Amino acid sequence: MSFDYDLFVIGGGSGGVRAARVASATGAKVALAEEYRMGGTCVIRGCVPKKLMVFASSYEEQMHDAASYGWDVKIGKFEWSGFRKKMHTELDRLEGIYRKLLDGSDVMIYDSRAVLDDPHTVKLADGTKITAKHILVATGGHPVRPSLANADLGLVSNDIFLMEELPKDVLIVGGGYIACEFACILHGLGVNVSMYVRGAGLLRGFDEEACGLISEAMQSRGINIHTGTTIVEMAPAADIDIASDSKTTMGAPVDVARDLAENPKSDTDPEAAGPIWVKGSNGTEQVFQHVIFATGRAANTDGLGLEAAGVKLGRGGAIDVDEYSQTAVPSIFAIGDVTDRVQLTPVAIREAMAFVDTVFNGKPTKVDHDLIPSAVFTQPEMGTVGLTEEQASEQEEVEIYCTSFRPMQSAFAERPDRVLMKLVVSKANRTVLGCHIVADGAGEMIQLAAIAIKMGATKEDFDRTVAVHPTMSEELVTMKEPVRTA
Ligand code: NDP
Repeated sequence: MSFDYDLFVIGGGSGGVRAARVASATGAKVALAEEYRMGGTCVIRGCVPKKLMVFASSYEEQMHDAASYGWDVKIGKFEWSGFRKKMHTELDRLEGIYRKLLDGSDVMIYDSRAVLDDPHTVKLADGTKITAKHILVATGGHPVRPSLANADLGLVSNDIFLMEELPKDVLIVGGGYIACEFACILHGLGVNVSMYVRGAGLLRGFDEEACGLISEAMQSRGINIHTGTTIVEMAPAADIDIASDSKTTMGAPVDVARDLAENPKSDTDPEAAGPIWVKGSNGTEQVFQHVIFATGRAANTDGLGLEAAGVKLGRGGAIDVDEYSQTAVPSIFAIGDVTDRVQLTPVAIREAMAFVDTVFNGKPTKVDHDLIPSAVFTQPEMGTVGLTEEQASEQEEVEIYCTSFRPMQSAFAERPDRVLMKLVVSKANRTVLGCHIVADGAGEMIQLAAIAIKMGATKEDFDRTVAVHPTMSEELVTMKEPVRTA
């Protein structure tokens, strides 16, 4: 049977674009459909603009540090609209690069939504049907709001990059990657930030000691973290009789709340939805200019014709795939966030490469999801790879090597921040099972530690490596005694 293409990719994010380009380089005839902007979550509404905002938000602290180091510094005001314009210009430039890379790789681009019609056919928005020997679904995910009346008044991470003005205050709901990163970013840009975290602490699933330090650092900077707290009710502040209210308010004083309530914007789009009255499960009531839900993400599988084509969906509507990213339908594969394995850009790219090796290079390749390093871009950052102390101690007896100290640079600037360097080591064979770093630049450090750990380095391999002095990360090779066994 002959097909229009050897491969049709649905979705132009990091995974889809990489798979299309690399498959095309093998000589395959490839097309890709993207309904929105090329680059996907990472480039358009995720990692890239987020990291630019992380940089922007760190300068006030750096200027304070500079003053402590003798510089005559005048700290001016942050101007969101100028920064926002420049950030979007940069995103346009990157999108253009993605498009050029596809063009240069002879990948046919369809700027259209594409859905499955059958195991070898996709249908574009204008009804055109295109056949392909293989179809790769790489449609990513989207942020989800909790099921709560009026939840649509709240923003999600996508909206933050598009805000026309920075709010005076926000409530962020959630305690994961996105919640913590945006709490630090917005706080650093001058926004008064409160967080409702339903669990006992931030960043569930990460090393608890590391999370504790981040939580302390965030609170000492002035972020109001309320653990064990959720929203019970929310409504437009204009609908609530705040003036006659004698209830507790947590952050915005009642007169500010009243001002906000008296000047409501339209409630048709989330940007214009505030101010919002919120009742917390801790009994308090408060008005925030915006509520931001960072309560997880779900796979983009709705309306794609997947189930009709025979593709099986699993937890939260994500596509079920095997170790080769193949779905229940042999001609259809899926990679990236739409499969909800590990929602990280570099993982989607690895899955793309393994898919191309499997299908187009005759080298069946399983995706290696073991020991994936990652960073949380809070202030200070966390870099992590491997097992947490909690996970490792469930599986075997471990020794914990850990040190926490005030680093030279910020201590001189009289900042209270502490850093943490932690190794989780197998007692039986001395392998380093996990490494957790809380420090400025932890994301950069963990990338290098991850190479050694991926190679199976033991604690003794770390010990025989000469320290680079004076640095923070030298502690990773100079910790002599375990602080405890677990
Ligand atoms: P996460 O799963 O990390 O966090 C979701 C948070 O929302 C958790 O604290 C969760 O609580 C809480 N939550 C979920 N449902 C509710 C609810 N109904 N009410 C109140 N709280 C709720 O998701 P994110 O959206 O932060 O991030 C999604 C993924 O994106 C991450 O897993 C990560 O892979 C990726 N990412 C990576 C980044 C990086 O590499 N730096 C940056 C940003 C995102 P609980 O813990 O109790 O379930």
